[in-house]
Amino acid sequence: MKTALITGITGQDGAYLAEHLIGLGYRVHGLIRGQNNPKAEAVQRLIPKLELVEGDLLDQSSLIAAVESTQPDEVYNLGAISFVPVSWRQPVLTSEITGLGVTRLLEAIRLVNRDIRFYQASSSEMFGKVREVPQSETTPFHPRSPYGVAKAYGHYTTVNYRESYEMFACSGILFNHESPRRGLEFVTRKVTNAVARIKLGKQENVLMGDLSPKRDWGFAGDYVRAMHLMLQQDEPDDYVIGTGETHAVEELCAVAFAHVGLDWQDFVGTDPRFLRPAEVNLLIADSSKAREKLEWQPSVDFAGLVRMMVDSDLAQESAKCE
Ligand code: GDP
Repeated sequence: MKTALITGITGQDGAYLAEHLIGLGYRVHGLIRGQNNPKAEAVQRLIPKLELVEGDLLDQSSLIAAVESTQPDEVYNLGAISFVPVSWRQPVLTSEITGLGVTRLLEAIRLVNRDIRFYQASSSEMFGKVREVPQSETTPFHPRSPYGVAKAYGHYTTVNYRESYEMFACSGILFNHESPRRGLEFVTRKVTNAVARIKLGKQENVLMGDLSPKRDWGFAGDYVRAMHLMLQQDEPDDYVIGTGETHAVEELCAVAFAHVGLDWQDFVGTDPRFLRPAEVNLLIADSSKAREKLEWQPSVDFAGLVRMMVDSDLAQESAKCE
């Protein structure tokens, strides 16, 4: 039986990855931070077989202790400050957790057991003001937020530990991936939740930022399969994971509202509060390397993803009494 340790276990990807690995027969430990973390109970209820271990990406010795006590074959670093607007409001904390956290975790692995395989959750936000279209593993980075800068640091740190210590360290450059478990702050879930509430008469409209940026949105459940596949190869490497399709935020609104028979233009307003100091205008993945070497491909397309999320929000909002 293989053992995995996952940071970011209370996030969207942590839960999907833990379920996937447990389904494959893994023993799975999730790193949990803070005293009496309210999210610990929820993730434990969702995944009863998951074993929680205390630790914090800010605290070196807690990471060494977590790696020592769980003796994992594979470590997946999904923990981060992951919402771009928060990274402008708390840039130093973002650098500490999203950036330096990668070094701390790699140091823990190097000190405890260099044979442990390591996955770093890198991000398409590293491409930022894109230098080429579509973006592949060889596209230069130009991050546009403290989050993107911290992720670029984490990526290069992963590559550097691979090259310096011959560690099996992989960087998965994942484009936006969503699901019914996505936090309400992200644009997909903000829209699908608003559509459900508007349809049910609980909300009148929704205020948003720039509707023109384009993203390559996929389904998180598909993307965690790619993380696992990267660590099963003969050689460590970096892979871009995305669908190869791009859609504007406006199209997201159109598809989501149309799914419940409404016209988005009647309900979507704009508010400068949601504009960002610098924007990433166009992301689209060239994931041919992953498709070829990992034999990975997504199973859910953009419209299917949006409909899945709207249906889930409709069910959740109907069940809630207010
Ligand atoms: P990101 O790609 O990691 O920043 O993921 P988000 O889901 O937070 O944002 C995706 C895109 O939607 C960005 O270009 C945002 O500027 C744009 N966007 C437009 N309106 C909103 C909004 O109200 N909330 C969020 N989160 N994003 C918005």
